[in-house]
Amino acid sequence: MIYFDNVSKVYPDGTSALDGVTFSVDQGEFISIVGHSGAGKTTLIKLLLGEEHPTSGSVSFDSVDIQKVRAKDMPTLRRRIGVIFQNFRLLPTKTAYENVAFAMEAAGKTDEEIASDVPHVLELVDLSKKMWNFPRQLSGGELQRVAIARAIVNHPDLIIADEPTGNLDPVNTYEIIQILKKINDIGTTVILTTHNKGVVEALGKRVITMDHGKVVRDDATGKYAL
Ligand code: ADP
Repeated sequence: MIYFDNVSKVYPDGTSALDGVTFSVDQGEFISIVGHSGAGKTTLIKLLLGEEHPTSGSVSFDSVDIQKVRAKDMPTLRRRIGVIFQNFRLLPTKTAYENVAFAMEAAGKTDEEIASDVPHVLELVDLSKKMWNFPRQLSGGELQRVAIARAIVNHPDLIIADEPTGNLDPVNTYEIIQILKKINDIGTTVILTTHNKGVVEALGKRVITMDHGKVVRDDATGKYAL
């Protein structure tokens, strides 16, 4: 599904962020990407989202070279990818319901689809009772659950979770990881970046370890070797 083929990235100021990165991810996999700050994790995700381009090598999504996707076709590709961030990135003036509905509106869904899918997806993340709360009225764990609902509501093929538990306590971290596992169990591919050793070990899934822009390990099951 995803293929990084000998990808290097040098930023305009000369910083080398990725150096000869090659790996592939199959449909339905759950992979964690770990590495110290500056290892290249964010750059790797930006390349996957088409926000940055490789200096050499190629990144493909379902055999399509992301760099060759025309600007007008990019939104269609992006809709197949749901993204979850460490700082949630919810719209502060919209309720939990409206934050999720907004993602459906942007994808051109009908009012009927929105009215039926939003409560369903909020129930999936156990937030039915707080549907009408604004972000300022929600805890960190709840905010992240809204962000997950928003990321999955348009049925993406891939979820990218970039340090989703970085601002959460252990109980909320556990819950968010359980939700990501549940999403993966129904067939969605998940790419998780994390610093959390416990998360990676509890998941027991594939782990790619990055260091100074290189993949230094690729373990089939849950080793965090930093
Ligand atoms: P991580 O997400 O693992 O912390 P990053 O991909 O953010 O790593 O960064 C990898 C390297 O690239 C670091 O040395 C960082 O300072 C550098 N870097 C990231 N973004 C830029 C940029 N826009 N311009 C120049 N250097 C950058």
